[in-house]
Amino acid sequence: MSKTAIVTGGTRGIGRAISERLAKDGYKVAATYAGNDDAAKLCADEIGVKCFKFDVGDFDACAEGIKQIEADLGPCEVLVNNAGITWDAPFHKMSKEAWSKVINVDLDSAFNMTRNVWEGMRDRGFGRVINISSINGQKGQFTQANYSAAKAGLIGFTRALAYEGAKKGITSNVIAPGYIDTEMLQAVKPEVLEGIISTIPVGRLGKAEEIASMVAYLASEEAAFVNGATMTVNGAQYIAS
Ligand code: NDP
Repeated sequence: MSKTAIVTGGTRGIGRAISERLAKDGYKVAATYAGNDDAAKLCADEIGVKCFKFDVGDFDACAEGIKQIEADLGPCEVLVNNAGITWDAPFHKMSKEAWSKVINVDLDSAFNMTRNVWEGMRDRGFGRVINISSINGQKGQFTQANYSAAKAGLIGFTRALAYEGAKKGITSNVIAPGYIDTEMLQAVKPEVLEGIISTIPVGRLGKAEEIASMVAYLASEEAAFVNGATMTVNGAQYIAS
């Protein structure tokens, strides 16, 4: 019987590629999103996944959203915490709002979503939690104190969950992508992006599908012994695990 996977931010960019790959692999996929109904409609029409709109930064909205998804598609066996935003500023100009919003959407969201599926995964003795961090959570980045903190926080969160789920058939892993060609990078000035590409040994941006294939592996039965890992997918831009 096919498993149910939830992909937050699953309607655009990396998330959409993950939704598409998991659907192709036979999962029933729920792709969540925040507000871009056009992108969600395209996603539903083109790749045939169900889309659900709620704010992953809001605990109660996640509880309600997951309830709806599970009623529709069945219990969540694979959770991909992918939704994320940036709000960059040099630290001496970073507002409290920019700090709190990024921590909320990029880190609180992982608690909000995972907490609401965790007990079910424990009861059923199977689960896959896959958190999408970033190279900038591993090494820090100028103007991204908020984002780097949230993405580094995801790594610690995942490692703690790895211990707690280990005896219950649940694995928790992080993927730390390097720079991937999505709309998120449109916020980066072209000259800055050129500079970034020059620091990537393979000489190009990554593709969303290259993150999706790592998700597919971590979600599989084959990956049962991979738990608490940080998988770097970054074209050798930063060699760390
Ligand atoms: P995009 O900006 O292309 O897509 C973001 C997705 O997240 C959209 O589906 C969006 O919904 C959803 N989303 C945003 N905020 C919320 C919210 N509050 N509640 C629910 N859903 C929300 O992002 P990318 O595909 O580029 O990035 C995906 C993940 O990968 C992020 O966590 C990002 O930090 C990480 N990452 C990206 C890299 C890159 O180079 N692109 C590099 C390293 C990590 P909607 O369409 O409605 O706005």
